Amino acid sequence: MTVYLDNNATTRVDPAVVKAMLPFLTDQFGNPSSAHGFGAFAGAALAKARRQLQALIGAEFDDEITFTSGGTESDNAAILSALEVMPCRTEIVTSAVEHPAVLTLCAHLEETRRAKVHRIPVDRHGRLNVDAYRAALTPNVAVVSIMWANNETGTIFPVAKLAELAKEVGAIFHTDAVQAVGKLSIDLKSTAIDMLSLSSHKFHGPKGVGALFVKRGVPFQPLIKGGHQESDRRAGTENTPGIVGLGVAAELALKSMDDETARIKWLRDTLENGLVQRVPNSVVNGDPLERLPNTANIAFEDIEGGHGILHLLDREGVVCSSGSACTSGSAEPSHVLRAMKMPHGAVRFSFARDNGQGDVDRVLEVLPSIVERLRHAHSSGSNGWSAEDLQGIPGLSGGRTGVHS
Ligand SMILES: *Cc1c(COP(=O)(O)O)cnc(C)c1O
Repeated sequence: MTVYLDNNATTRVDPAVVKAMLPFLTDQFGNPSSAHGFGAFAGAALAKARRQLQALIGAEFDDEITFTSGGTESDNAAILSALEVMPCRTEIVTSAVEHPAVLTLCAHLEETRRAKVHRIPVDRHGRLNVDAYRAALTPNVAVVSIMWANNETGTIFPVAKLAELAKEVGAIFHTDAVQAVGKLSIDLKSTAIDMLSLSSHKFHGPKGVGALFVKRGVPFQPLIKGGHQESDRRAGTENTPGIVGLGVAAELALKSMDDETARIKWLRDTLENGLVQRVPNSVVNGDPLERLPNTANIAFEDIEGGHGILHLLDREGVVCSSGSACTSGSAEPSHVLRAMKMPHGAVRFSFARDNGQGDVDRVLEVLPSIVERLRHAHSSGSNGWSAEDLQGIPGLSGGRTGVHS
């Protein structure tokens, strides 16, 4: 059986969510915008989902929620809208550790629109440099986009306070809350946050659906232009089954949050403490205090990148993620770990409500010896390893120096 500990990448769709979606994939296929009663049934389902999500994020009004295709679209729509409604301002403030959905867009805007982008640095615990943030805030800033919680380390940024500072210079404040929604208690009506992105598949809903919160009164220009769906904020026939699923997932997240947060944090802490005890020279990355309850990011000295560990864990049926730039197969730490000046790649374990004590036990059983074997291979070439053992492990399959020397 697979031990799934990669819940920051995506989560299992809850069976109750699937059940709620099914009618809208079969008999109830009406177009929510149609004038007849058959379409109106789907329209009512969208309205219900909007209220379910409204409750999860503490939005004051349901019309502050626009359904989108997911976190990436919401991030793009928010930042591009802010630039459009503030034509006299050309600067963007963001952090060095945002998701590529924000950082890639910002780099593109820098190139194509000569936007000035301030990427606020973080310290070695991943905490935002608030002095640098304050210094970047001027009346030239159109939009601030700072994530609520980091997907790799779980570090939580003080977004409510950051939003208030942004308001002082009249900038629009957006937060990528994809990792926070469903894990942290959120009450948007009591904050100065103007826009917030979220994604259903990070909290046991289906993929390809998410939402953008836009506070009432904040001017908005749609990214996707066309028909009048979503109150003219996002054209295109709504993904009714997906949105219904998102709504039920939101309701389940809200209902289980109190109990699950404590249980999941306990599992995470048991794993972290167990590993630090059993594996010499291992460190927990991220803010020790302000951190998502479900995320453990652990670096092991003398092991370049987390890829070797990842592959060997995979063979033992344990699925997690590495804090390395996986695209190139290199051992180079990710942009997040580099921003924290962490020289080692790391392994990320992220929990959710499907996980139990057995999952933690399994990792504690197999990981210490994997690290020991990799360290041994690292310090003595590939002694004791057959070619087959090393096959497909980036940085090891070509011997110690590998192809990236
Ligand atoms: C997963 C994720 C996204 C992207 O969301 P999609 O719905 O997959 O597009 C954006 N930001 C963060 C922090 C994420 O973890």
